[in-house]
Order: sequence, then structure tokens, then C-alpha cells
Amino acid sequence: MDAPRGDRGLIASVPGDSAVRAPGDAVVGWRYWQVAGGRLRSVTQRGTEWKPGQVLSARCMGAGHRAPDAGCDCGVYGARDLESLRQHGLCLAPEAVAVGRVALWGRVLDDTAGWRGQFGRPVAVSVVPEMVDDGELDTVLAALAAYGVPVDTMALSDAVAGVTADVLAHQAMAARASRTRAG
Ligand SMILES: [Zn+2]
Repeated sequence: MDAPRGDRGLIASVPGDSAVRAPGDAVVGWRYWQVAGGRLRSVTQRGTEWKPGQVLSARCMGAGHRAPDAGCDCGVYGARDLESLRQHGLCLAPEAVAVGRVALWGRVLDDTAGWRGQFGRPVAVSVVPEMVDDGELDTVLAALAAYGVPVDTMALSDAVAGVTADVLAHQAMAARASRTRAG
């Protein structure tokens, strides 16, 4: 199996406002996010929050060059379709997961499963209900409305490839059980 492909070298959100839109010629790919505190976070760079109404900008921290770079793996990732994402965008954290589409623009390079872009912005977000704590789904969906893009849900078995979905479902169940015991 290929190593998971995911964001590298994301440093910050560029200040913007809700009027900021991706340009009409932006490439639109598929990707996963983790959802924490009602905000989208990169899966491979958990510290990177996608702030509502702002554009996420990539810069290569390792090499210091402009991102993405052809000889590197930096950039904001987007897969060409959901099936490519399911094959390459592994997501093995037992936390709230969302899948959706992302606009990529600026400098955009081809990558194994799709593209790596310089700038990224969510276009649509689907929360995976099985990965959200019981009773929290409405709260999560309401929080994500801050992004000003369509928000809905997608079943775990549709969002994530079979084996990974099984592992995630098991982890989520175990995490929930341990929280119940602790509480
Ligand atoms: Zn780089």
C-alpha cells in the first residue's frame, strides 16, 4: 500500500474575510479533515486549522521554497475524486472526520492521487456521523456553518475505504467506551 499522502508545509491561514473566494479557474479536489472544536484541521498536520472565511496558504517549512515544489511533497492536498482519496488519503485518527471538496489555486502541481496547491479553501464539507460523539452531530454541523459552504453528512463506509473504515469505527467505539467509563 502506498504511504498516505497529505498536506505538508502548511504554515498559516492568510487573513481574509468572508468575501474571499477561490478564483473561477481553481482546481477542485477531494480531501479529508479532522474536526475539532467546530473547526476543520488538516489530517497530516493536526496543528493546522482552516479558519472560516480564510484562505489556507502553503509554504515549505523544510526547504523554505515556494510551495508546492515539484521535487518535494509540500502543498495543500486534493485528490481528483472520492475513489482516489479513499485509496490514498488514509485517515486513521479516531476523532471526528469530515470529507469534502477543496478549491486549490495559485501554483498547482499534479500529484499521485490528484493535486498539490499553493492556496486552499473548502468548497463543501460532509461530516462522518459515525466519527462524532453521540448527540454531538447537530452541534458540529452548526459550528461548520461558519465556513459558509454546504455542510452535510456522509456515511463512514462511503467516505473511507473498507478496511480503514472498520479500523476507524472500532477506534471510535473504544474511545467512546473509555470516555463513558471515565465519566
Ligand atoms: Zn517543499
